[in-house]
Amino acid sequence: MEYRYNYLNNFLKEKFGERTLKICIEGGFTCPNRDGKKGIGGCIFCSSKGSGDHLKCKDITEQVEDYLKSERSKRANRYIAYFQSFTNTYGTIEELKNKYDAALIDDRIVALDIATRPDEITDEVVALLKTYTSKYYVWVELGLQTSNENTGKVINRCYTNVDFANAVNKLKANGIDVVTHIMVGLPGETHEDIVNTVDFINSQKIDGIKIHSTYVLENTKLEELYKSGEYKTLEFEEYMDELIYIITHLRKDIVIHRFSGDPPKDLLSAPLWMNHKKWIMNGLNNRMAKENLEQGMYYKIK
Ligand code: SF4
Repeated sequence: MEYRYNYLNNFLKEKFGERTLKICIEGGFTCPNRDGKKGIGGCIFCSSKGSGDHLKCKDITEQVEDYLKSERSKRANRYIAYFQSFTNTYGTIEELKNKYDAALIDDRIVALDIATRPDEITDEVVALLKTYTSKYYVWVELGLQTSNENTGKVINRCYTNVDFANAVNKLKANGIDVVTHIMVGLPGETHEDIVNTVDFINSQKIDGIKIHSTYVLENTKLEELYKSGEYKTLEFEEYMDELIYIITHLRKDIVIHRFSGDPPKDLLSAPLWMNHKKWIMNGLNNRMAKENLEQGMYYKIK
C-alpha cells in the first residue's frame, strides 16, 4: 500500500525483503524509576506492568517459541525480538546478554528491538548491543514523551533532554538505530509544546518515532488526576490535528512506527476512542489524501 508517510511496514519490507513481525517479549525487568534508583512510583501514566500490560512473564525462549507456534505468526517468516516492558537495559551485562540471547533462537529472528530509558544507556550496554549488529538489525526505543522539561517533572520521567541526546549520540556512534516515543496531550501541554517537541526530535539523529495519544490506565497517578478533574484527555479530533501537524513537520527520513498507543482494553479509563486504532489510521490516511498532505512537507531546518 502507498502511504503518504514513511511507514514502518514498508521500511521493514524493504529492509528484509518481506513482511516482518514483532514478537513482544516480557524480559522480567523492572525500572529505575520504580525501584528508587532514579525515582519511585514511575511515570504517572505507566501501569504497574511497565507499559506491557498484555504480556505474561515466563521463560523468554518459551515466549518466542509459543509465538512462533501461534496462528498469528503464520503471516510472516521473519521476526523481530522486541523487549517491550519496563527498562530492558536495566541489569548486569551478563543478565542482559543471557536474556537477549534467549530470544534469538534461530535464523527466523532477524532483528533485536530493545525498549529502555535514555539514562540507562551506559557505555557497557552500548558495547553489548553492538556485538549483535553483525548478525541482527538492532534498534533501541527511547522514551522522550516531550521536550518540555517542566512536563518531564510533572510526569515524573526522571531524566532530561540532555540524557536523551547523549543516549542517541552514543547509540548512533556505534551503529545502533534509535526510535523514540512522544506523547500528545500530556498534562498542561499545549500545541506549542508539540511544536517544540517536533523541532527537538528533528534536531536529533533518530531513525524512527512512535507517536502516542496520552491515555489513562486504571490505578495510575494519571487516573487520580483525571478523576479529580485536574487532567482532561484529548478528543479524537484534537489528537488528529496534532498528529497531522507532527507528520507534516517531521523529517522525511524518520520512519513512523505507530500513531497510537496500545492500551489494554480492561485497564483503559480514558479516552475510550483509543479502543479503535483503526479510526486513527483510517482518519489519518483519509485526511492526508483529502488535503494532499505528506510527511515532512513543512519541515524546515532550524
Ligand atoms: S520509564 Fe518506562 S517503565 Fe519506567 S516508569 Fe516510566 S514508562 Fe514506566
